[in-house]
Amino acid sequence: MFDYEYPLNVSDLLYRARYLFPNKELVTRYPEGIHRYTYGDFYKRVCKLAHALDKLGVEKGERVGSFAWNTFRHLELYFALPCTERVLHTVNIRIPDEHIAHVVSVAEDKYLFVDEDLIPIIERVQDRLDTLKGYIVMSHSGKVPDTTLKPVYSYEELIEGEEEEYPFPEFIDEKSTALMCFTSATTGFPKGVEYTHRGIVLHSLVSSLPDAFNMHERRVMMAVVPMFHVLSWGYPFACTMVGAKQVFPGSQPTPKDLVELIEREKVNYAAGVPTIWLAVLSEIETGKYDVSSLKEVLSGGSAPPRALMESYDKYGITLTHAYGMTEAYPLVLVSRLKSYLEDLPDNDRYRFRAKQGLLLPCLRCRVVGESGQEVAHNGEEFGELLLRGPWIVKGYYRDKERTQETFGDGWYHTGDVVSIDEEGYIQVADRTKDLIKSGGEWVSSVQLENAIMAHPAVKEAAVIAARHPRWDERPLACVVLKEGGKEEGKKEGIRELLSKRFPKWWLPDEILFVDEIPKTSVGKFDKKVLRKDFGDYYIGG
Ligand code: AMP
Repeated sequence: MFDYEYPLNVSDLLYRARYLFPNKELVTRYPEGIHRYTYGDFYKRVCKLAHALDKLGVEKGERVGSFAWNTFRHLELYFALPCTERVLHTVNIRIPDEHIAHVVSVAEDKYLFVDEDLIPIIERVQDRLDTLKGYIVMSHSGKVPDTTLKPVYSYEELIEGEEEEYPFPEFIDEKSTALMCFTSATTGFPKGVEYTHRGIVLHSLVSSLPDAFNMHERRVMMAVVPMFHVLSWGYPFACTMVGAKQVFPGSQPTPKDLVELIEREKVNYAAGVPTIWLAVLSEIETGKYDVSSLKEVLSGGSAPPRALMESYDKYGITLTHAYGMTEAYPLVLVSRLKSYLEDLPDNDRYRFRAKQGLLLPCLRCRVVGESGQEVAHNGEEFGELLLRGPWIVKGYYRDKERTQETFGDGWYHTGDVVSIDEEGYIQVADRTKDLIKSGGEWVSSVQLENAIMAHPAVKEAAVIAARHPRWDERPLACVVLKEGGKEEGKKEGIRELLSKRFPKWWLPDEILFVDEIPKTSVGKFDKKVLRKDFGDYYIGG
């Protein structure tokens, strides 16, 4: 007789893949060639890794970081850590060095698993990674390359010789943390969120529904969305749960690599940001590849242009629009047409499909206008989207102040300004967060501004998002020079200053010298006015 509620655990997703789908494949692209194995092999290696973690002395509840691309080894970490009651912290490989040092230290990571080609980044910051007891290099050759990291181990050597069975704990507290990651903040360092066993299982179940991701065993899934960004939208868990074949694009995949994988592995479903689908479309349009297996691409992270949906439709591929965020594991909305909207004229159907979509089961939302009142569901009034539900996080990791700001009233304030129409389709109109989303990753305008204003010749600087055909948004800096300052050489000087602190892709594409930055009544930079003046500024591809 049970006297407890059976807990929801990530280990039950692993259990199912091992028992029911031991022969289904997991495929990873490596520069050395394609790696292929099965869920049966995967399970054995997860067990070996679990033993290796025991030997490394990682305690229950402790965090271990990953700094890695989408690969089968990263998937092994996704399961071995939570299934042994430890926590995997996926570190975003694209954030500035000082942010990497910060997130590893706040999470108090004990070890860091690093992909071989990313070692130089970690070498740059290793002096600041005080909590780490060692590095594990996930080189495909199995050897440890020349590196200044120490102590350093090879992933393959570490798990070699370990047993292929592991006594996983049967019942893990479902409210305990399984994974964690950090998301960029407008000001200051990134904010951490924790994902629980319970949240991951519920998210996997609900996101797999036909009206959501529609995930099932016959899917041949290629998640292009990184495993270091919001759990790769939960696909590693949902796919493993249903026994779908998974295709991992590996390190730095180019659009050509992606279409080659689609053709070779007969991928029928893929997910990523619109920037990816734009680039993949150009490859498809060359006519050189047979992508007839591909039936659906899931596009999220920012809004895809309608023309992109139309282009994919021409190839018999449905581009489905979805919306979510780090604080929501991430899925919140998916835009699929209700049955009775299917017969609408083309124009109206695209109008609905281009919206961010309908709320998933188990979530609640409110759209609140400036007066604090909920807006009418007429698709015309705008308000901030507030959320709550079983996979909306409760707050930010060890950060009371920012938790209070964003979750203080029991609702998660998304910072997204939306409308909701008569059918319940939600559309994102604007963001209150002062961040720029470039190719799916965030750039903080405020941090760039502060850095630019540290230049001795600069009086004021404001950074806004300019439209970009490939990256969707790119930073554009508007700079006021100090009295009598000359423009010559200043752009280069500012760029040099920024490149010391930020990754290359954060640097503004354009620096415009202006006479003044418009201000609000309380003297803050009025970015609304700037965006109106320059937001349509189109930076060439
Ligand atoms: P992240 O936490 O990095 O995944 O970013 C989440 C944020 O990205 C949301 O709060 C939105 O501002 C934006 N976002 C995500 N999906 C979409 C979408 N489909 N359309 C427009 N903006 C989106």
